[in-house]
Amino acid sequence: MSEQIQTWETDPASGLQISVERPRIDGPPFAFFFPLPAPDPDPDSATPAFRYWNAAAALRRGADFWGPAMGPNAQWFTGPVLEVRLDAGADWNAVYNRRKLLFHRGVLNQDTVIYAAESADMLCHELGHAMLDIAQPNLWNTCHNEIAAFHESFGDVSAILCALQIPSVRNSVLAVTGGAIFQDTALSRIAKQFGTALHTLRPDEADSNCLRNAHNSFSYVPPETLNSTGSTAVLTSSPHSFSRVFTRAMLEALEGMMAVHASATPDRLHDITLELRDIMIEAVKRAPLVQLYYASVAAKMMLAAREKNEAYETVFRDIFVARSILSSASADAILSSPTPQEDTGFAGEIAENSRAIITSSVASERHGLTEAIEVEISANPLATTARSAVEDASLSPLSPEEAATMFVDRLFERGLVDIREEETESPLSEGLVTHRIERIGGRLHLKRVSFQFSQSMAARRHYQEKGGS
Ligand SMILES: [Zn+2]
Repeated sequence: MSEQIQTWETDPASGLQISVERPRIDGPPFAFFFPLPAPDPDPDSATPAFRYWNAAAALRRGADFWGPAMGPNAQWFTGPVLEVRLDAGADWNAVYNRRKLLFHRGVLNQDTVIYAAESADMLCHELGHAMLDIAQPNLWNTCHNEIAAFHESFGDVSAILCALQIPSVRNSVLAVTGGAIFQDTALSRIAKQFGTALHTLRPDEADSNCLRNAHNSFSYVPPETLNSTGSTAVLTSSPHSFSRVFTRAMLEALEGMMAVHASATPDRLHDITLELRDIMIEAVKRAPLVQLYYASVAAKMMLAAREKNEAYETVFRDIFVARSILSSASADAILSSPTPQEDTGFAGEIAENSRAIITSSVASERHGLTEAIEVEISANPLATTARSAVEDASLSPLSPEEAATMFVDRLFERGLVDIREEETESPLSEGLVTHRIERIGGRLHLKRVSFQFSQSMAARRHYQEKGGS
């Protein structure tokens, strides 16, 4: 007989709770390892036991949602079990580092502690990184801004799609929007509790009522034309900020897909979340890894959407063109091509994509290193004809080398690279940096160690003052 437990519906900010079946934490596929011993479920939301089972239920729901799209026998990047740490220390952060999902606690003041792992949005964002890493592992090390930003967008879209697996969420979204889902709602506002609290401490790092809002007004502009930092009111080239362009397009896609159908019912909305999941996964498997990755993956999404439902072709085309993610000329050329480029079947494409990455040297003297570092970049920027719309026609796109140099420079500017050339588990590798330097065959290579929620300079300074290098 199944046992019911109490959890937050999605984010604790709503105060809404639901009763769900006690989840299988360590059951395959996509097993998790949680700290042992497992506490008895507790309906009191102030207890660690409530947070434990709340997190387990959200991650299990997320894995059950994404899992079927991952293909037979798929597992986590590093094996059958992914470790989860529910209280990885005081910081405003959450991390996916291929071996673990780590959730920190933000300390607002003496009386208020905000646990990242208490929000299904935060849990399912990090889970999204892990799932995308299975579907397209070559995104991990490639040093292009739009690829990193897409990874962040995928995490936020994961939060939205996983929330929509809950019947009460579908009902309330439709009651509020009538099916016109692209609105400022509890669904579009991602990580409300965590973001609201973070905003009071660091107003530039979160909106006043959430971490990021999928309902926003941002359209594509080449990231090299943007500042690398700024408040959430403006678009910057920082992957988290820039991710909002693609996330907006996906929330618009949900609305557009609903509008294709005669009735906006909760069951229809559920079907559409599964379709969008499949469209995104198919696209990331097929899209060439180029520096103009937004256009590359958007083009494959249009084609995958058309395979699901012919009427979706126009939905996706119009959204991507309106957001300048695709130029109308390249969108129409791709849709009218009798044999879409690179369309040779999944296995071949993944192999081709891994071949499509090469290493290239980036100068590093200005970052205090004495040798150039090798970074992974797109081998062939012409592997796709997909292009974003650029207002200034005189602006020519960056080469892969230029795009990688910009990406690497901004990592160093923001203190996100551990330059110690050694792999150790430390606070640095568990949240304070995203990349490290590794010596392979006598040369320095730049490798990603994590995707993380927060890239706060304040936290890194704190660690360094306490004696870290
Ligand atoms: Zn993230």
